[in-house]
Amino acid sequence: MAQIIDGKKVSARVKAEVKKEADVLREKGIEIGLAVVIVGNDPASRVYVNNKKKACEEVGFVSYEYALPEKTTEKELLALVDKLNKDDKVNGILVQLPLPKHINENSIINAIRPEKDVDAFHPENVGHIMIGDFSFLPCTPAGVMELIADTGVDVCGKRCVVIGRSNIVGKPMAMLLLHANGTVTICHSRTKDLAGICSEADILVAAVGKAGFVTSDMIKEGAVVIDVGMNRDENGKLCGDVDFASCADKAGYITPVPGGVGPMTIAMLMKNTLTAAKQKNNIK
Ligand code: NAP
Repeated sequence: MAQIIDGKKVSARVKAEVKKEADVLREKGIEIGLAVVIVGNDPASRVYVNNKKKACEEVGFVSYEYALPEKTTEKELLALVDKLNKDDKVNGILVQLPLPKHINENSIINAIRPEKDVDAFHPENVGHIMIGDFSFLPCTPAGVMELIADTGVDVCGKRCVVIGRSNIVGKPMAMLLLHANGTVTICHSRTKDLAGICSEADILVAAVGKAGFVTSDMIKEGAVVIDVGMNRDENGKLCGDVDFASCADKAGYITPVPGGVGPMTIAMLMKNTLTAAKQKNNIK
């Protein structure tokens, strides 16, 4: 039976570290602020935004929430981003995705000042991630790296397989594993012999968005299996991309859903916001 990687425990540790540093900054008169912008009424996005607000309270950040109606225009949203870019109280800006279809997500992401782009989605920050001289880590992949570190398994020289190539998860995930000296393969919907490739992985990261996609025949005995997926099953229950029941018997380490990667994403967002505040104030 695999050891369960406890994302709640690891995220609590990361947030405690962030809080400690935030407390020191506050004593120096530096308040840390995160602005979260949500457009429309997507229930899942609402939950994420509320969780981010709660995390800000936990670590002692000031959170500024902007809940805009579905009919908000791109121009109006750009005006808000511009205002937040210029606001000294705001260290980090997060625009919750997805945005309504009439708003071009890239034009919004590109408008956020890179030094406040705590999601690390701006092309300038993506470039830094590619080069490896980044200050903002992409939140979900960075959270996955913390979870892998928690197992004690060293990525160096390991065969790593990432299923999914999105800009938010798959691609930056592969880069972080590569920076950690893993030998990385990225799989996607056109990959041939996906099961064969996955079954050779010492570290397998699933970011597909399909419930129960990874089955036990696709994993190597003793592998580290990280499930990024957040899906709803036929009963509306939250579940991942990995068929946990069968894979837990074969894997060495495995993340549950919920309680695995999800809490880490928010913890890493807090860490990035702290980094933004430290950079603004020239604190190492
Ligand atoms: P996405 O943009 O939809 O990307 C999904 C990827 O999976 C694509 O690259 C796609 O390949 C690939 N794929 C789809 N069907 C496949 C198949 N049959 N075989 C192999 N590859 C296949 O999704 P995402 O934004 O990366 O998110 C992935 C999952 O992670 C979702 O469940 C999402 O909710 C979750 N997520 C969780 C967190 C968290 O904090 N836990 C954060 C972000 C996302 P193509 O490129 O070829 O289409």
